Amino acid sequence: MHRDNYKAKLDASQYKLTGQRATVLEVMIRNRGKHLSAEEVLQQARLLRPNIGIATVYRTLEKLASLEILYKGMFDSGKYRYELADDREHHHHHVVCVNCGSITEIKDDLLCELEKNIEKQGFRIVDHDLKFFGYCPNCTKS
Ligand SMILES: [Zn+2]
Ligand SMILES: [Zn+2]
Ligand SMILES: [Zn+2]
Repeated sequence: MHRDNYKAKLDASQYKLTGQRATVLEVMIRNRGKHLSAEEVLQQARLLRPNIGIATVYRTLEKLASLEILYKGMFDSGKYRYELADDREHHHHHVVCVNCGSITEIKDDLLCELEKNIEKQGFRIVDHDLKFFGYCPNCTKS
């Protein structure tokens, strides 16, 4: 997704991307492909804008998630993480390492086939969500 796509979504929502909010989005763009907690976003945002407040960071992350500019997911105990939404229609899946907490993205998606089977039973599926939990290659070695 390019910056212009964000802009179109922002314009449509009439949400004004003022200085501090723009900093939050800037951090997410710089960390494309990573899954950051609000605290991690705050740390990085402070490097760009030292006086940014945690409340602003939280609010902006929530708002950008509701606009589907960010994806919000829970990967480890009770803590939400945010990542830049990709421009594909369907969100990718994740494997979470139960030892080191690393999050890896899975590109294969066999569930689309399963969705079709469910729809044969009369449902109309709009989305699905799936996470795998296990030990990553690094943790398996040690
Ligand atoms: Zn690991
Ligand atoms: Zn992801
Ligand atoms: Zn899927």
